[in-house]
Amino acid sequence: MEIYLDNAATTALDPEVIEAILPFLTTHYANPSSAHGAGRRAKEAIDQARRTVAHLLGALPEEIYFTAGATEGINLVLSGAIRAYDLSHVITSRIEHKAVLQTLKRHEKEGDIEISFVKLDERGNVDLYHLENLLRANPRTLIALMHGNNEIGNLTDIHAIGVLARRYNAVFFTDTTQTMGKAHFDLQEAEIDFLVGSAHKFHGPKGVGFVYIRQKHQLKPLIYGGGQERGQRGGTENVVGIVGLAKALEVAYRNLEASRSKVARLKQYLVSKLAISGIEGICYNGESKSIENSVANVLSVSFPCLSSGSLVTKLDQVGIQVSGGSACQGGGASHVIQALACEADKENVRFSFSKFNTFEELDLVVDAITRIYESDPVVATRTGWKRIASLA
Ligand code: PLP
Repeated sequence: MEIYLDNAATTALDPEVIEAILPFLTTHYANPSSAHGAGRRAKEAIDQARRTVAHLLGALPEEIYFTAGATEGINLVLSGAIRAYDLSHVITSRIEHKAVLQTLKRHEKEGDIEISFVKLDERGNVDLYHLENLLRANPRTLIALMHGNNEIGNLTDIHAIGVLARRYNAVFFTDTTQTMGKAHFDLQEAEIDFLVGSAHKFHGPKGVGFVYIRQKHQLKPLIYGGGQERGQRGGTENVVGIVGLAKALEVAYRNLEASRSKVARLKQYLVSKLAISGIEGICYNGESKSIENSVANVLSVSFPCLSSGSLVTKLDQVGIQVSGGSACQGGGASHVIQALACEADKENVRFSFSKFNTFEELDLVVDAITRIYESDPVVATRTGWKRIASLA
Protein backbone atom coordinates (compact mmCIF):
# COMPACT_ATOMS: atom_id res chain seq x y z
CA MET A 1 0.00 0.00 0.00
CA GLU A 2 1.27 3.47 -0.92
CA ILE A 3 -0.75 6.52 0.10
CA TYR A 4 0.75 9.92 -0.64
CA LEU A 5 -0.48 12.71 1.63
CA ASP A 6 2.47 15.06 1.36
CA ASN A 7 1.27 17.34 -1.41
CA ALA A 8 2.37 20.54 0.34
CA ALA A 9 5.92 19.19 -0.05
CA THR A 10 5.51 18.31 -3.70
CA THR A 11 2.90 16.93 -6.09
CA ALA A 12 2.68 14.32 -8.83
CA LEU A 13 2.96 15.56 -12.41
CA ASP A 14 -0.42 15.99 -14.05
CA PRO A 15 -0.77 13.71 -17.13
CA GLU A 16 -1.52 16.80 -19.27
CA VAL A 17 1.79 18.30 -18.13
CA ILE A 18 3.69 15.16 -19.11
CA GLU A 19 2.10 15.30 -22.55
CA ALA A 20 2.97 18.99 -22.95
CA ILE A 21 6.64 18.65 -21.99
CA LEU A 22 7.47 15.45 -23.90
CA PRO A 23 8.21 17.19 -27.25
CA PHE A 24 10.60 19.54 -25.42
CA LEU A 25 12.47 16.58 -23.94
CA THR A 26 12.79 14.92 -27.33
CA THR A 27 12.54 17.12 -30.43
CA HIS A 28 12.46 20.78 -29.36
CA TYR A 29 15.69 20.87 -27.40
CA ALA A 30 17.31 23.92 -29.00
CA ASN A 31 18.69 26.77 -26.94
CA PRO A 32 16.16 29.62 -26.90
CA SER A 33 19.00 32.12 -27.34
CA SER A 34 20.08 30.53 -30.65
CA ALA A 35 19.26 32.56 -33.74
CA HIS A 36 18.15 29.59 -35.88
CA GLY A 37 14.58 28.42 -36.39
CA ALA A 38 14.75 25.71 -33.72
CA GLY A 39 16.06 28.23 -31.20
CA ARG A 40 13.33 30.68 -32.15
CA ARG A 41 10.71 27.97 -31.62
CA ALA A 42 12.08 27.27 -28.14
CA LYS A 43 12.01 31.00 -27.43
CA GLU A 44 8.42 31.20 -28.68
CA ALA A 45 7.47 28.36 -26.28
CA ILE A 46 8.85 30.41 -23.37
CA ASP A 47 7.06 33.54 -24.54
CA GLN A 48 3.82 31.60 -24.85
CA ALA A 49 4.28 30.18 -21.34
CA ARG A 50 4.88 33.70 -20.03
CA ARG A 51 1.69 34.93 -21.69
CA THR A 52 -0.27 32.02 -20.22
CA VAL A 53 0.95 32.64 -16.66
CA ALA A 54 0.35 36.38 -16.97
CA HIS A 55 -3.14 35.90 -18.37
CA LEU A 56 -4.11 33.47 -15.56
CA LEU A 57 -2.99 35.94 -12.88
CA GLY A 58 -4.23 39.17 -14.43
CA ALA A 59 -0.65 40.33 -14.93
CA LEU A 60 1.33 41.56 -17.93
CA PRO A 61 3.70 39.09 -19.63
CA GLU A 62 6.61 41.46 -18.96
CA GLU A 63 5.86 41.19 -15.24
CA ILE A 64 6.61 37.43 -15.17
CA TYR A 65 10.18 36.13 -14.78
CA PHE A 66 11.00 32.43 -14.71
CA THR A 67 13.31 31.07 -12.00
CA ALA A 68 14.48 27.72 -10.68
CA GLY A 69 11.71 27.59 -8.08
CA ALA A 70 10.30 29.57 -5.19
CA THR A 71 13.45 29.65 -3.07
CA GLU A 72 15.36 31.34 -5.86
CA GLY A 73 12.43 33.67 -6.54
CA ILE A 74 12.25 34.66 -2.88
CA ASN A 75 15.99 35.37 -2.80
CA LEU A 76 15.69 37.41 -5.99
CA VAL A 77 12.80 39.50 -4.69
CA LEU A 78 14.09 40.10 -1.17
CA SER A 79 17.74 40.73 -2.01
CA GLY A 80 16.85 42.46 -5.27
CA ALA A 81 14.38 44.86 -3.65
CA ILE A 82 16.56 45.61 -0.63
CA ARG A 83 19.49 46.48 -2.89
CA ALA A 84 17.52 48.22 -5.64
CA TYR A 85 15.61 50.51 -3.28
CA ASP A 86 18.12 50.75 -0.48
CA LEU A 87 15.49 49.51 1.95
CA SER A 88 16.60 49.43 5.55
CA HIS A 89 13.61 47.84 7.28
CA VAL A 90 11.67 44.64 6.68
CA ILE A 91 8.49 43.45 8.36
CA THR A 92 7.94 39.71 8.37
CA SER A 93 6.56 37.01 10.67
CA ARG A 94 8.07 34.14 12.62
CA ILE A 95 6.16 31.53 10.64
CA GLU A 96 7.45 32.38 7.16
CA HIS A 97 9.24 29.75 5.11
CA LYS A 98 12.96 29.40 5.79
CA ALA A 99 13.68 30.76 2.31
CA VAL A 100 12.34 34.10 3.56
CA LEU A 101 13.66 33.99 7.12
CA GLN A 102 17.19 32.89 6.23
CA THR A 103 17.51 35.39 3.40
CA LEU A 104 16.42 38.22 5.67
CA LYS A 105 18.67 37.01 8.48
CA ARG A 106 21.66 37.19 6.15
CA HIS A 107 20.83 40.78 5.21
CA GLU A 108 20.37 41.67 8.85
CA LYS A 109 23.74 40.11 9.72
CA GLU A 110 25.39 42.10 6.97
CA GLY A 111 23.91 45.29 8.39
CA ASP A 112 21.64 45.98 5.41
CA ILE A 113 18.33 45.86 7.26
CA GLU A 114 16.54 45.73 10.56
CA ILE A 115 13.78 43.16 10.91
CA SER A 116 10.49 43.66 12.75
CA PHE A 117 8.33 40.62 13.43
CA VAL A 118 4.63 41.34 13.28
CA LYS A 119 2.61 39.95 16.18
CA LEU A 120 0.61 36.82 15.56
CA ASP A 121 -2.41 35.72 17.53
CA GLU A 122 -2.51 32.30 19.24
CA ARG A 123 -3.54 30.69 15.96
CA GLY A 124 -0.84 32.32 13.88
CA ASN A 125 -2.92 35.09 12.29
CA VAL A 126 -1.24 38.40 11.52
CA ASP A 127 -2.20 41.25 13.87
CA LEU A 128 -3.07 43.97 11.34
CA TYR A 129 -3.12 46.73 14.01
CA HIS A 130 0.42 45.87 14.98
CA LEU A 131 1.40 45.76 11.30
CA GLU A 132 -0.03 49.25 10.80
CA ASN A 133 1.84 50.55 13.87
CA LEU A 134 5.08 49.10 12.52
CA LEU A 135 4.47 50.70 9.14
CA ARG A 136 3.66 54.05 10.68
CA ALA A 137 6.90 54.02 12.63
CA ASN A 138 9.13 52.85 9.79
CA PRO A 139 9.32 54.50 6.39
CA ARG A 140 11.10 52.66 3.52
CA THR A 141 9.78 49.27 4.54
CA LEU A 142 9.58 45.99 2.70
CA ILE A 143 6.76 43.71 3.89
CA ALA A 144 7.36 39.96 3.47
CA LEU A 145 4.27 38.05 4.60
CA MET A 146 3.16 34.77 3.12
CA HIS A 147 -0.28 34.03 1.68
CA GLY A 148 -0.71 30.38 2.70
CA ASN A 149 1.41 28.79 5.40
CA ASN A 150 3.07 25.56 4.29
CA GLU A 151 2.86 23.86 7.68
CA ILE A 152 -0.44 24.89 9.22
CA GLY A 153 -2.23 26.20 6.14
CA ASN A 154 -3.19 29.60 7.62
CA LEU A 155 -4.35 32.08 4.98
CA THR A 156 -3.27 35.69 5.38
CA ASP A 157 -5.44 38.59 4.24
CA ILE A 158 -3.06 39.80 1.54
CA HIS A 159 -5.62 42.32 0.25
CA ALA A 160 -5.77 44.11 3.59
CA ILE A 161 -1.97 44.04 3.83
CA GLY A 162 -1.66 45.40 0.29
CA VAL A 163 -3.92 48.32 1.18
CA LEU A 164 -1.77 49.10 4.24
CA ALA A 165 1.37 48.82 2.14
CA ARG A 166 0.05 51.44 -0.28
CA ARG A 167 -1.10 53.73 2.51
CA TYR A 168 2.36 53.76 4.08
CA ASN A 169 4.33 53.69 0.86
CA ALA A 170 5.85 50.28 1.61
CA VAL A 171 6.60 47.54 -0.91
CA PHE A 172 4.80 44.24 -0.43
CA PHE A 173 6.08 40.78 -1.24
CA THR A 174 3.90 37.75 -0.55
CA ASP A 175 5.09 34.14 -0.75
CA THR A 176 2.29 32.45 -2.68
CA THR A 177 4.06 29.12 -3.13
CA GLN A 178 1.29 27.20 -1.34
CA THR A 179 -1.66 29.04 -2.87
CA MET A 180 -0.57 29.42 -6.49
CA GLY A 181 -2.96 27.32 -8.61
CA LYS A 182 -5.31 27.01 -5.63
CA ALA A 183 -6.57 30.57 -5.21
CA HIS A 184 -7.59 33.25 -7.72
CA PHE A 185 -5.25 36.19 -8.20
CA ASP A 186 -6.03 39.38 -10.03
CA LEU A 187 -2.78 41.29 -9.99
CA GLN A 188 -4.31 44.27 -11.77
CA GLU A 189 -6.43 44.78 -8.68
CA ALA A 190 -4.32 43.41 -5.84
CA GLU A 191 -1.88 45.80 -4.18
CA ILE A 192 0.96 43.31 -4.43
CA ASP A 193 4.41 44.30 -5.68
CA PHE A 194 5.99 40.85 -5.87
CA LEU A 195 4.94 37.24 -5.54
CA VAL A 196 6.42 33.82 -6.33
CA GLY A 197 5.21 30.46 -7.55
CA SER A 198 6.78 27.02 -7.83
CA ALA A 199 5.54 24.52 -10.41
CA HIS A 200 6.08 21.36 -8.36
CA LYS A 201 3.48 22.52 -5.82
CA PHE A 202 0.72 22.48 -8.46
CA HIS A 203 1.44 19.27 -10.40
CA GLY A 204 4.20 20.74 -12.56
CA PRO A 205 7.91 19.86 -12.72
CA LYS A 206 10.44 20.48 -9.95
CA GLY A 207 13.15 23.12 -10.19
CA VAL A 208 11.11 25.74 -12.02
CA GLY A 209 9.10 28.68 -10.74
CA PHE A 210 8.39 32.29 -11.45
CA VAL A 211 8.41 35.71 -9.91
CA TYR A 212 5.85 38.42 -10.53
CA ILE A 213 7.45 41.85 -10.42
CA ARG A 214 5.00 44.75 -10.79
CA GLN A 215 5.87 46.71 -13.91
CA LYS A 216 7.02 49.83 -12.11
CA HIS A 217 9.75 47.89 -10.26
CA GLN A 218 13.20 46.94 -11.43
CA LEU A 219 15.18 44.65 -9.13
CA LYS A 220 18.90 44.10 -8.88
CA PRO A 221 19.54 40.62 -10.36
CA LEU A 222 20.80 37.75 -8.25
CA ILE A 223 22.32 35.76 -11.09
CA TYR A 224 24.33 37.56 -13.77
CA GLY A 225 25.02 35.97 -17.13
CA GLY A 226 23.77 36.08 -20.68
CA GLY A 227 20.96 38.55 -20.10
CA GLN A 228 18.14 36.00 -20.13
CA GLU A 229 14.82 36.93 -18.54
CA ARG A 230 15.41 40.53 -19.58
CA GLY A 231 18.58 40.72 -17.56
CA GLN A 232 16.84 39.74 -14.34
CA ARG A 233 18.17 36.15 -14.28
CA GLY A 234 21.10 34.94 -16.35
CA GLY A 235 21.40 31.32 -17.54
CA THR A 236 19.93 29.21 -20.32
CA GLU A 237 16.23 28.86 -19.64
CA ASN A 238 14.71 25.59 -18.44
CA VAL A 239 12.42 25.29 -21.47
CA VAL A 240 10.96 21.92 -20.43
CA GLY A 241 10.23 23.21 -16.95
CA ILE A 242 8.76 26.50 -18.13
CA VAL A 243 6.43 24.78 -20.61
CA GLY A 244 5.41 22.35 -17.85
CA LEU A 245 4.83 25.15 -15.36
CA ALA A 246 2.50 27.04 -17.70
CA LYS A 247 0.55 23.88 -18.55
CA ALA A 248 0.27 22.91 -14.87
CA LEU A 249 -1.04 26.37 -13.97
CA GLU A 250 -3.50 26.29 -16.86
CA VAL A 251 -4.84 22.90 -15.73
CA ALA A 252 -4.98 24.09 -12.10
CA TYR A 253 -7.04 27.18 -12.96
CA ARG A 254 -9.29 25.30 -15.37
CA ASN A 255 -10.23 22.93 -12.54
CA LEU A 256 -9.80 25.29 -9.59
CA GLU A 257 -13.28 25.07 -8.06
CA ALA A 258 -13.63 21.30 -8.52
CA SER A 259 -10.17 20.60 -7.08
CA ARG A 260 -10.63 23.00 -4.18
CA SER A 261 -13.99 21.55 -3.28
CA LYS A 262 -12.63 18.00 -3.44
CA VAL A 263 -9.59 18.64 -1.24
CA ALA A 264 -11.75 20.61 1.24
CA ARG A 265 -14.09 17.62 1.48
CA LEU A 266 -11.10 15.32 1.98
CA LYS A 267 -9.94 17.53 4.83
CA GLN A 268 -13.38 17.59 6.48
CA TYR A 269 -13.65 13.83 6.05
CA LEU A 270 -10.32 13.20 7.77
CA VAL A 271 -11.29 15.52 10.65
CA SER A 272 -14.60 13.70 11.07
CA LYS A 273 -12.93 10.27 10.95
CA LEU A 274 -10.33 11.30 13.53
CA ALA A 275 -13.11 12.61 15.77
CA ILE A 276 -14.63 9.13 16.02
CA SER A 277 -11.33 7.23 16.02
CA GLY A 278 -11.32 7.00 19.79
CA ILE A 279 -7.87 8.60 20.04
CA GLU A 280 -8.01 11.19 22.77
CA GLY A 281 -6.03 14.41 22.85
CA ILE A 282 -5.95 15.21 19.14
CA CYS A 283 -5.84 18.92 18.34
CA TYR A 284 -5.35 21.05 15.24
CA ASN A 285 -2.62 23.63 14.72
CA GLY A 286 -3.31 27.20 13.64
CA GLU A 287 -6.32 27.58 11.37
CA SER A 288 -5.70 24.32 9.59
CA LYS A 289 -9.05 22.78 10.55
CA SER A 290 -10.97 25.74 9.14
CA ILE A 291 -12.02 25.54 5.49
CA GLU A 292 -12.34 29.34 5.09
CA ASN A 293 -9.18 30.43 6.89
CA SER A 294 -6.68 27.90 5.63
CA VAL A 295 -5.34 26.43 2.42
CA ALA A 296 -7.86 23.71 1.62
CA ASN A 297 -5.31 20.95 1.17
CA VAL A 298 -3.34 21.29 4.43
CA LEU A 299 -4.35 19.72 7.75
CA SER A 300 -1.92 20.02 10.65
CA VAL A 301 -2.78 17.67 13.49
CA SER A 302 -1.11 17.20 16.85
CA PHE A 303 -1.36 13.68 18.20
CA PRO A 304 -0.58 12.39 21.70
CA CYS A 305 2.94 11.02 22.03
CA LEU A 306 3.48 7.34 21.43
CA SER A 307 5.82 5.47 23.74
CA SER A 308 7.10 3.28 20.93
CA GLY A 309 8.43 5.92 18.48
CA SER A 310 7.24 8.42 15.97
CA LEU A 311 3.80 8.23 14.36
CA VAL A 312 5.17 9.70 11.11
CA THR A 313 7.78 6.92 10.95
CA LYS A 314 5.25 4.23 11.78
CA LEU A 315 2.94 5.52 9.04
CA ASP A 316 5.85 5.49 6.60
CA GLN A 317 6.52 1.86 7.52
CA VAL A 318 3.04 0.95 6.29
CA GLY A 319 3.36 3.04 3.10
CA ILE A 320 1.60 6.23 4.23
CA GLN A 321 3.59 9.35 3.41
CA VAL A 322 3.04 12.46 5.52
CA SER A 323 5.26 15.18 6.98
CA GLY A 324 5.78 16.08 10.58
CA GLY A 325 7.97 16.68 13.52
CA SER A 326 7.83 15.42 17.04
CA ALA A 327 8.14 17.24 20.32
CA CYS A 328 7.56 13.87 21.97
CA GLN A 329 11.06 12.44 22.09
CA GLY A 330 12.61 15.76 22.95
CA GLY A 331 12.85 17.70 19.72
CA GLY A 332 12.14 17.80 16.03
CA ALA A 333 9.21 20.20 15.77
CA SER A 334 9.67 23.05 13.29
CA HIS A 335 9.89 26.77 14.07
CA VAL A 336 6.24 27.15 13.04
CA ILE A 337 4.92 24.36 15.21
CA GLN A 338 7.05 25.45 18.14
CA ALA A 339 5.53 28.93 17.81
CA LEU A 340 1.96 27.72 17.54
CA ALA A 341 1.52 24.12 18.63
CA CYS A 342 -1.95 23.63 20.01
CA GLU A 343 -0.33 21.85 22.97
CA ALA A 344 3.25 21.06 23.90
CA ASP A 345 4.49 17.46 23.95
CA LYS A 346 2.57 16.25 20.97
CA GLU A 347 3.54 14.80 17.66
CA ASN A 348 2.65 17.05 14.78
CA VAL A 349 1.56 15.47 11.51
CA ARG A 350 0.86 17.44 8.35
CA PHE A 351 -1.54 15.71 6.00
CA SER A 352 -1.66 17.47 2.66
CA PHE A 353 -4.02 16.37 -0.05
CA SER A 354 -4.32 16.68 -3.80
CA LYS A 355 -7.05 16.10 -6.36
CA PHE A 356 -5.58 12.61 -6.84
CA ASN A 357 -6.37 11.46 -3.28
CA THR A 358 -9.50 9.48 -2.43
CA PHE A 359 -11.81 9.10 0.56
CA GLU A 360 -10.98 5.37 0.64
CA GLU A 361 -7.33 6.25 1.19
CA LEU A 362 -8.31 8.31 4.22
CA ASP A 363 -10.28 5.36 5.64
CA LEU A 364 -7.10 3.30 5.39
CA VAL A 365 -5.02 6.07 6.96
CA VAL A 366 -7.31 6.40 9.99
CA ASP A 367 -7.41 2.61 10.35
CA ALA A 368 -3.60 2.55 10.33
CA ILE A 369 -3.36 5.35 12.92
CA THR A 370 -5.91 3.66 15.13
CA ARG A 371 -4.01 0.37 14.98
CA ILE A 372 -0.76 2.14 15.88
CA TYR A 373 -2.36 3.72 18.98
CA GLU A 374 -4.11 0.49 19.89
CA SER A 375 -0.79 -1.32 20.05
CA ASP A 376 0.98 1.38 22.07
CA PRO A 377 0.68 0.36 25.74
CA VAL A 378 1.59 3.68 27.35
CA VAL A 379 -0.88 5.74 25.34
CA ALA A 380 -3.61 3.21 25.99
CA THR A 381 -2.99 3.37 29.72
CA ARG A 382 -2.38 7.11 30.07
CA THR A 383 -5.37 8.34 28.14
CA GLY A 384 -7.64 5.43 28.86
CA TRP A 385 -7.77 5.04 25.09
CA LYS A 386 -9.45 2.03 23.67
CA ARG A 387 -10.78 1.16 20.30
CA ILE A 388 -14.43 2.02 19.77
CA ALA A 389 -16.20 -1.28 19.22
CA SER A 390 -18.26 -0.12 16.27
CA LEU A 391 -15.11 0.68 14.33
CA ALA A 392 -13.35 -2.60 15.05
N1 PLP B 1 7.78 28.97 0.28
C1 PLP B 1 6.86 28.10 0.72
C2 PLP B 1 5.67 28.62 1.48
C3 PLP B 1 7.00 26.73 0.49
O1 PLP B 1 6.09 25.88 0.92
C4 PLP B 1 8.15 26.28 -0.23
C5 PLP B 1 8.37 24.85 -0.44
O2 PLP B 1 8.19 24.03 0.42
C6 PLP B 1 9.07 27.23 -0.68
C7 PLP B 1 8.85 28.56 -0.41
C8 PLP B 1 10.28 26.82 -1.48
O3 PLP B 1 9.88 26.32 -2.73
P1 PLP B 1 10.86 25.61 -3.76
O4 PLP B 1 10.83 24.17 -3.43
O5 PLP B 1 10.27 25.86 -5.11
O6 PLP B 1 12.19 26.22 -3.63
